[in-house]
Amino acid sequence: MGKLLAEDTRRHHRSLILQHLFAEGPASRADLARATGLTRVTVSDLVSGLIADGLLGELGTPAEAKVGKPPTYVGLLADAAHIVALDLSPADRMTGAVVDLFGQVKARAEVKLDGAVGEEAVSLATGLAEQLRDATGQPVLGIGVGTPGVVDGRGVIIDAHNLRWAGVDLTGIIRRRLGLPVYVANDANTAVLAEYTFGGTTAADLMLLRIGIGVGAGLVVGGALVHGHAWAAGEIGHVVVDSGGVRCACGKAGCLETILSAPHLRESLRHGGRSLASVGTVLGGVLAPVVAALNLHEVVLAGPPDLLDGELRQALDRCVRDRVMATSSADLVVRMSPLGDDVVLVGAAVLVLSGELGVS
Ligand SMILES: [Zn+2]
Repeated sequence: MGKLLAEDTRRHHRSLILQHLFAEGPASRADLARATGLTRVTVSDLVSGLIADGLLGELGTPAEAKVGKPPTYVGLLADAAHIVALDLSPADRMTGAVVDLFGQVKARAEVKLDGAVGEEAVSLATGLAEQLRDATGQPVLGIGVGTPGVVDGRGVIIDAHNLRWAGVDLTGIIRRRLGLPVYVANDANTAVLAEYTFGGTTAADLMLLRIGIGVGAGLVVGGALVHGHAWAAGEIGHVVVDSGGVRCACGKAGCLETILSAPHLRESLRHGGRSLASVGTVLGGVLAPVVAALNLHEVVLAGPPDLLDGELRQALDRCVRDRVMATSSADLVVRMSPLGDDVVLVGAAVLVLSGELGVS
């Protein structure tokens, strides 16, 4: 028991150091001791261990240090280990990437679905992960997967309609096949983690709305991902906005998704249906209570910029501001994600960084 506790403490202290270097960049051992509250001796010991493991490197001395004995900086090495990331959310394929510890994509691969569902789709995902693991010469820290559908805390996919998955333990299946740590989460949840960790934001209260073949959202509140009691937080795409509207895949009629998904937006632009501005206003009506209730700092849109980053975003921004108290809207930012099509892949890498190194 005592030994286990000591091991836990050491692991925790290691992640404090990694967390600081991840967030702030290279630092001296003295800086690390100040920032983490650990003793110099403990820090030196842990840093030596992390260097021996290949995660940290000695980076020389800072240019400005001229007086006295200059400190040596240590920093996280981007290529010390790689992460295999999968995005299972596109309609017609699964995409994957090898990602370094700073969230940069180093290699890509993809596999066409060709109508595969159920076990066949599981095999495609597993094969893609294997292919990417073999594509990097670096040690693989783990495998992160962003999937459509509702995913529980153990990474079991409770329900992913399009892939006909119900109760699929994708985490266990890939872990057994590849013998590496595996983390599986909903695609919009991984996307908001990407935005929070690598999107260049300082906001700790944000919602990311992902608009593609479906509509989903991920929420970070107080710096923590929100799961909800049935793991379905952020499933805002199936809120009914037009009770006389078209039938949705979920069984209801007139869900937000039936007017806001990328295929529906393109369809109505082609056939003179709803304008992008009017859709933005409908979306604003759905999001305003969420912004007000959670006092969100940012609402981030991820999806095709030609559809989202114009009239739709402006109308959404205006509508939310019109409907919430001035205090709620004063510092509100409604913007596009800078991560583009890679937002889920990068978020899947964050799952691994957070699970294995304690950084995010
Ligand atoms: Zn629906």
